[in-house]
Amino acid sequence: MEFTAGLIPLETALEQMLSRIVPVTESQTLPLLQAAGRVTANPVTSPIDVPGFDNSAMDGYAVRMADIAAGGALPVAGKAFAGQPFNDEWPAGACVRIMTGAPLPAGAQAVVMQEETEVTETGVRFNAPVKNGQNIRLRGEDIRSGASVLPAGKKLTAAELPLIASLGVADVTVLRKVRAAVFSTGDELRLPGQPLGDGQIYDTNRLAVHLMLDQLGCEVIDLGIIKDDPEALRAAFIEADSQADVVISSGGVSVGEADYTKQLLEELGEVGFWKLAIKPGKPFAFGRLQNSWFCGLPGNPVSAALTFYQLVQPLLAKLSGQQGNVLPPRLRARTLGRLKKSPGRLDFQRGIMRTAQDGQLEVLSTGHQGSHIFSSFSQANCFIVLERERGNVEAGEWVEIEPFNALFGG
Ligand code: AMP
Ligand code: MG
Repeated sequence: MEFTAGLIPLETALEQMLSRIVPVTESQTLPLLQAAGRVTANPVTSPIDVPGFDNSAMDGYAVRMADIAAGGALPVAGKAFAGQPFNDEWPAGACVRIMTGAPLPAGAQAVVMQEETEVTETGVRFNAPVKNGQNIRLRGEDIRSGASVLPAGKKLTAAELPLIASLGVADVTVLRKVRAAVFSTGDELRLPGQPLGDGQIYDTNRLAVHLMLDQLGCEVIDLGIIKDDPEALRAAFIEADSQADVVISSGGVSVGEADYTKQLLEELGEVGFWKLAIKPGKPFAFGRLQNSWFCGLPGNPVSAALTFYQLVQPLLAKLSGQQGNVLPPRLRARTLGRLKKSPGRLDFQRGIMRTAQDGQLEVLSTGHQGSHIFSSFSQANCFIVLERERGNVEAGEWVEIEPFNALFGG
């Protein structure tokens, strides 16, 4: 893997990562509910026609066109309900009462909605012109038996699984979960619930990463907090690499004296890149270990969460076998206040977006954008994405925003 010097742009980093990642291939077959969040291993094809039979789109009357042409009232020969077809004799010059979803009686050519009819003593009168084929849902008009309804590489959600259920299919073959190992590095880190000693802080990043991995459907291997000790870190790298497809650490990627991550990555694998032209999150290490990919997140919690979101999330999508565009959409909004920015790095400020009176989007900064202000994520509902070369932004200027997805409560 080639080492890239200097600060590299986010798009280049993503391109370098995504072009190298090879998705998992092992698959398993699961009941639909258990397949939620998993990725299809093969295209899903339909074993049946949908609809499975010609049926009525309305509550009304099934008719033959010749009887309508005759012009008189038609007596009702019987009734067809959803799940209870009309199979009796249907004499000429009669109609059949029919409900939505009921199978169309043999020979029916149209369904007249009941609002366009009138029931009289001699039978049903039809008060509007009737077109051949109207209000009939034809067998197979939605999905033909044998047709592909979902491609391989599709993440299964409430948009897809009910569709599979509607085909009568109870199980689906999906790719295995991505295995992700996570650990935090830092002598100063303590677990929530423990007392803090001098200069100590609570480990925020591992919880953030663990939660996001869970939400993205990964199997998580949590290796805890590792001290800033080269031996302990080496052991953690090796342990993580032996168990996971991707290893995610936080801290130790800057240039301080206790920052061993890059050094170990060089020793045990290869460094792809480790300095990005983004803010927050400049030190982000990406590389390869013997068996797994490695992502070294920055220590500052905002930077760690942001780089996970912007870089690790698409990496995991690719690794999990999802196909198609894995990058989020961006929108344009008017900024409500001044945004501080110096040229040189792509900036992901946290913002609150809403629809303005004129129907356009407007966005307000959450305030202090320091990489230690984690509360900014909870207040925000989007990133304000400020281009690399842009300087300060004045109120009223247009900016790009990226709405949060479900990882951040969007
Ligand atoms: P580092 O990259 O290890 O120098 O860390 C940068 C900053 O992030 C330091 O202030 C660390 O104390 C802080 N930090 C590192 N890891 C964590 C963590 N897991 N949770 C909260 N803060 C952290
Ligand atoms: Mg550290």
